[in-house]
Order: sequence, then structure tokens, then C-alpha cells
Amino acid sequence: GMLRTPSAVADAERWTAHNYHPLPVVITSAEGAWLTDVDGRRYLDCLAGYSALNFGHRHPKLIAAAHAQLDRLTLTSRAFVHDQFADFCHELAELCGKDLVLPMNTGAEAVETAIKVARKWGYEVKGVPAGQATIVVAEGNFHGRTTTIVSFSTDPDARDGFGPYTPGFRIVPYGDLAALADAIDDTTVAVLIEPIQGEQGVVVPPAGYLPGVRALCTERNVLFAADEIQSGLGRTGETFACDNEGVTPDMYILGKALGGGIVPVSAVVADRDVLGVLRPGEHGSTFGGNPLACAVATEVVRLLATGEFQRRSAELGERLHGRLRELIGKGVVAVRGRGLWAGIDIDPALMTGRRACELLAERGVLAKDTHGSTIRLAPPLVVTAEELDHAVDQLAAVLAG
Ligand code: PLP
Repeated sequence: GMLRTPSAVADAERWTAHNYHPLPVVITSAEGAWLTDVDGRRYLDCLAGYSALNFGHRHPKLIAAAHAQLDRLTLTSRAFVHDQFADFCHELAELCGKDLVLPMNTGAEAVETAIKVARKWGYEVKGVPAGQATIVVAEGNFHGRTTTIVSFSTDPDARDGFGPYTPGFRIVPYGDLAALADAIDDTTVAVLIEPIQGEQGVVVPPAGYLPGVRALCTERNVLFAADEIQSGLGRTGETFACDNEGVTPDMYILGKALGGGIVPVSAVVADRDVLGVLRPGEHGSTFGGNPLACAVATEVVRLLATGEFQRRSAELGERLHGRLRELIGKGVVAVRGRGLWAGIDIDPALMTGRRACELLAERGVLAKDTHGSTIRLAPPLVVTAEELDHAVDQLAAVLAG
């Protein structure tokens, strides 16, 4: 019979702003690591909603928590306290080894929250003169899409045409401690970086960089704000990417997988001397920390507290990276990453990353290109060794033409 996909893609194009260029696949249901499209074709999910689906699609415990909460209470606003709030904040704070949690919804909102907290801390605790606070960020960063955040993006697509820009940011090369040391002065309130740059192509900084950032921030009385929105919550084989280097930031910025792929949940997690600078009326969100979000996210924290997903990610990541390295010279130029997270640079002479992802989709594997000839693989952490081998086999076949 007639395929439903072409008209479904055309309808979606017809009625939306073109701020995305999706692969021509129309998904209708999913379970674990597998997706099904409107024509009944099945795909292995190797993107996992940009790491928002670390526990797979519709994890039974997360779905049960959501269903139970839907039947009781969904929203109160923060004008009142609800009975799902304390457990979520308490358990997430303990997972992070910090005192306090400030829940928001999207990743960009959590980054904005961290920026506001750092500035307030700078004025009230560090003693930076009013209006002078600076925050040091890295080239190649991706922290979200708000006007302030795109102000310090170095990606022309993300930034150009959206000015006037928010001042107060200094940009240094990622991985360069000397440049970071030079950029910090008495006005500096925070260093805001991704411990691994996801959108840039899963760029892992040189060994020693994160401990060096930690040491510089401590020495110069600057907050280390780690954007773990994509890297955190099991993706790299540890709870946080910072854990791989034995580093503890002052602020964890979390999102994506915190909502279990069900609801948008983000948070800033820090000690009392940092988050305590906010007082009633100074920051908030209608939906931040709502009962449905808290019920699901508490269950996410409990899944992570077992360590099972981090172990899977570490073990299966070894296998994934081993298999991918075998493709170097066979259409692959370089492979980076940690745990179940890989950035694969394919030979640009062969094809674009986009073309490779289209061909992978035809072979039943969904992945996403980034920056020209890079493919990112980030399967749900429930993926099996056999499924990973299958994905790499399909990539090998695509590159072999
Ligand atoms: N920070 C990082 C490191 C991200 O990867 C992303 C999303 O890709 C964001 C922030 C923004 O998150 P959101 O799209 O939920 O606003």
C-alpha cells in the first residue's frame, strides 16, 4: 500500500517554522531503545533525544510514576508546597553531594538560573562592583537558545542576527588552562563550561583540564558551573562527566534525562553558600518543580542511585568505542567520547554527516549529524551489546558504500 511517511513529513513542514531539518522519519511509538514509524518500520534509537532518554523510551518505573501522579495532582505552582517536592530536591541534592536544588524546566532555563545565581553571588559574597560581573565561557560551547546564552555562542548559526547581545561574558579556547587563567580577574564570578562539549561533536577536553579548571576557580574565588545537561546522569559511564576526572564543580546544571524523557525537568544544584543568595521574588518558574515533574524526576534519581545505568554505560561504552576505532581508516577519520557517547568524524570526501544519517535511517538506525561531517551516537543506556554491534555494522556498511 501507500506509505504514510511522505505526506506526514510534508504536513509537518507545511505547518511549522523551519528551525529544524529533521530526518524524513515519522515516529509513532517506542519502547526501550526501539522506535516504530507510521509505516511500521522499526529503528534503533542512537540519539536518545539528545540524551533526554538515557533510561530508554517509556521505562516502566518512570511511566508508572507518571501515571500515578497524573491521577492525583499535576500542578500547584510554587505559591504552595506539594507533597512530591521535598523528596525530589532531597534525593537529587544527595545524588549530587550538594545542599540545595533549584528546579526549572528546560536546560536553557537552568543555565540562565546558574548565570543569575553566579552574578548575585559575585555582588553579595565576592564583592564585585555592581553591574561589573563577568563569566568566562568556552569557544564551541552550547548552552541553549535564549538571547543571553546565544550572546556568548561562537556558532554563527546560533548567534548571528539575534543581537543586541548580553554583555558580561569572556570567551576562551576550550581545553586551554593558560587562556582561562588570563581571562579571570577580580570581576569574574563564574567559569561556565561543558565537561564534554556535546553539540560541538562530543569534544573531550585534554586530561587534567577539568581538575585545572577546579583549581583555578578555587584559587581565584570563582564559581565552577558545570553544564552537565547533556553529559550528566549516566551518559559517560559515571553519574556526572566531571566524576571521570574526580572533579566536583560548585554548581551542577542538569536537564534532559532528569525528566526521564517524559516531562521537561532541569535544575541547578549547589551548596547553601551559593544557592542561598536567592530570596523570595528574585527568581522562579510557574512549572518549575511541579508535581508531575518531581514524581518522574525522583524516580530518575532513584534509577541513578543504584549505579546500574552508569555501569552499563561504562562497560558498553568500552565495546562501542573499540568497535568504532576499528572503522578509522575505513571512512572514519576520528572517534571521541566517553561511555555510551561518541562523536565520529567521517571522511568529508565520502559524504556529509547528514547523508550518512539518512543512509543509516534507511538501514534502521537513527543518529544525528552535527557540524558537517560529524555523527553523534548516544543510544539509551538500556541498549544491549548486540544492538550496539548492529548499529556499528550498519555504519560500516554505509561508509563502505
Ligand atoms: N546545555 C547543553 C550542554 C545542552 O546540550 C543543551 C541542549 O542540547 C542545553 C544546554 C539546552 O537545553 P534545552 O534545549 O533543554 O534548553
